[in-house]
Amino acid sequence: MPPTFAEARVDLGAIAENIALLAEKAPGAGVMAVVKADGYGHGAVPAARAMLAGGATWLGTAFIEEALELRAAGITAPAVSWILPPGAPLAAAIGADIDLGVSDPEVLRQVAAAAREAGRPASVHLKADTGLNRGGVTRADWPETVAAAAAAEAGGEIRVTGVFSHFACADEPGHPSIPAQLARYAEALEIAEKAGLRPQVRHLANSAATLTLPESHYDLVRPGLASYGLSPIPGLRVPGLRPAMTLRSRIALVKRVPAGEGVSYGHRYRTETDTRLALIPLGYGDGVPRAATNRGPVLAAGRIRTVSGTVCMDQFMVDVGEDPVEAGEYAVLFGAGADEPGAEDWAAVLDTIPYEIVTRIGARVPRVYT
Ligand code: PLP
Repeated sequence: MPPTFAEARVDLGAIAENIALLAEKAPGAGVMAVVKADGYGHGAVPAARAMLAGGATWLGTAFIEEALELRAAGITAPAVSWILPPGAPLAAAIGADIDLGVSDPEVLRQVAAAAREAGRPASVHLKADTGLNRGGVTRADWPETVAAAAAAEAGGEIRVTGVFSHFACADEPGHPSIPAQLARYAEALEIAEKAGLRPQVRHLANSAATLTLPESHYDLVRPGLASYGLSPIPGLRVPGLRPAMTLRSRIALVKRVPAGEGVSYGHRYRTETDTRLALIPLGYGDGVPRAATNRGPVLAAGRIRTVSGTVCMDQFMVDVGEDPVEAGEYAVLFGAGADEPGAEDWAAVLDTIPYEIVTRIGARVPRVYT
């Protein structure tokens, strides 16, 4: 049984409204909401349902297993999975109506074979590497791959439903790679078309591109982070976007300690005066980064303070001075309130991105849906 002192509250209404807002930002395009990594830590199934209620018409996952989880929960919306390592359950995906994002000519052959095994054509989204140099068919292999896809389509083994790509630096507006990737994507589409492919859905825009690059919207935008109400661009506030997750915990105890005491492992914090320390029962075992030692912002006893000393596996301390606070009251690590730190604030102090802050919240923290 998970402990009940801490919770990640997830506002599903906020997720639905965020999707509606993103749809407004991309008029003429549909929304493929990204629910990989357990819905960025929010819970893939409830998040996906909220996204569909908010107007998303597609769902995106990294792995087939993640899409199968959606299907097992009864979610029948179109879905695509785009990382297909050796041994990925391709035939199961085809049988469950899960589209496959194909990044490699060899994988295309495996998908065609799996389609024969499943006894029905696979719905494929060809992924073009337009400059991220991660997944995706390279520019050199693209003509051969689209030709093979056209042949497999003619043979009834696959149907090319989509052509997609992914940005490297959309979170840095003005980055020179952005127009270069847009041009390569247009080129990839043209080559696919010349090979006789007619993809229904062309999709390229992640959250940052959905918000800042209308020319990247095509048929579907593919936002992840912004769907959960977080800004993909450091420093960019998006009016109307509401963070869905609040990570909070009841304070487990408040104790008085004298001046000059070292606090928590390694004594990395030292009390300056006689003071009171609040124990927050959340730690790196729950996904609160140990790097937040003496840095993470926490709303406790009425104002934002900083983690005092080392973050341990299950707990950390906050110096609350003489401010009135008792065990049992809530401390908020991040949330949506104006007086609360945001996941973006945690990312900023830890020199990381909000994606990492929300996805790492561990299984020991119950998700409470509101
Ligand atoms: N599309 C692909 C292929 C991705 O890998 C991701 C996430 O990394 C997304 C879309 C969503 O990106 P974001 O969360 O920045 O919107």
